[in-house]
Amino acid sequence: MSIYLDNAATTKPCREAVESAVNAMTENFGNPSSLHRAGLDAQLVLDNARKVIASSTGAESENIIFTSGATESNNLAIRGICSAYGKRKKKIIVSSVEHASVDETLNDVEKNGFEVVRISPREDGNFYAEDFINACDENTVLIIMMYVNNETGYILPVQETFTKVKKRFPDIITHTDCVQAYMKINFKAGRLCADLISLSGHKIHAVKGIGALYIRKGIRLIPIITGGKQEKGIRSGTESVPLAAAFGSAVNRFSKDIDTRYEKVSELKKYLVEKISEIDGVEINSPENCSPYIINISQNKRSEIMLHFLESKGIYVSSGSACSKGQQSGVLGQFGITGKRADCAIRISMTAETTIQELDEFINALKYGMENLRG
Ligand code: PMP
Repeated sequence: MSIYLDNAATTKPCREAVESAVNAMTENFGNPSSLHRAGLDAQLVLDNARKVIASSTGAESENIIFTSGATESNNLAIRGICSAYGKRKKKIIVSSVEHASVDETLNDVEKNGFEVVRISPREDGNFYAEDFINACDENTVLIIMMYVNNETGYILPVQETFTKVKKRFPDIITHTDCVQAYMKINFKAGRLCADLISLSGHKIHAVKGIGALYIRKGIRLIPIITGGKQEKGIRSGTESVPLAAAFGSAVNRFSKDIDTRYEKVSELKKYLVEKISEIDGVEINSPENCSPYIINISQNKRSEIMLHFLESKGIYVSSGSACSKGQQSGVLGQFGITGKRADCAIRISMTAETTIQELDEFINALKYGMENLRG
């Protein structure tokens, strides 16, 4: 039996998600754009999933566009806004710890004449709304701030920043990547003052290959994928009804339980932090008030050596960000974690189904590895 502690990389699909995907593939396999009954049935499945996801973010169905995942949602948000509004306004404000799907996309638009201002945490390791607001001006088209950082679990001040930005500069468009917050922390688009929100299915026990972009009414996006004008013309391509159905079912299952699951995971985190703090040579890299779902620590062996040792014991964790295949992303450095401490960082990410026994096994294996491995 393996112990899976890499839920920030991806999660196991829940039974409800799998069942609705299978059902959509076997019973409702029509093309939702077809005008006959089979098409209509597929359209109904799609509509239902859209409604569930919309309601979970405090939105209406018309605000939700299905994508292939958050990477595409982030690309669509950034490129779509730059094309629609970027003729005269050329400045983008962004946190310095975004996921590669935001950061790399911004590198790209930067080459096309946009000025990207990256705001770092202050020396105390925290982000401050004022630092973002002070960087905004009349030339700013877009501000981007992820909700929960995927490497450390740090919670960024999205609501405070976006609310203040909108007060001073109502025309600046606000975008947040909520991949690591969705179904873990309760939020609503309106309260966040977010115009655009990126979501991903496979981080919330749905399946890979499906995501969504929340788009506030009135925000214009130039599509990056053109064709048959599905998804209101914003994202062409026949929708994956099975994946969307799985996404909707996972949201349906977990949206009622966000707070109880948060409490449960907070208890697990408390236990884990207490136990690993007793181990000589372990440093906790995640700040105290971060998302309990993600804990980043440094120990005395290089990340990859420890990762593969734990793997040999059937325990799966991640070194830094799993998406970058072990490459250091620089995000830890932004949080002041550098040198050997960054080289020896591992990320443990849990779900509410994680057990104390699993954590005990992980702690014992970690201790053994720290005492006995070379490197
Ligand atoms: N943003 C964040 C914060 C993430 O953690 C991830 C996944 N690692 C993504 C975006 C990309 O999501 P997807 O895998 O759905 O493309």
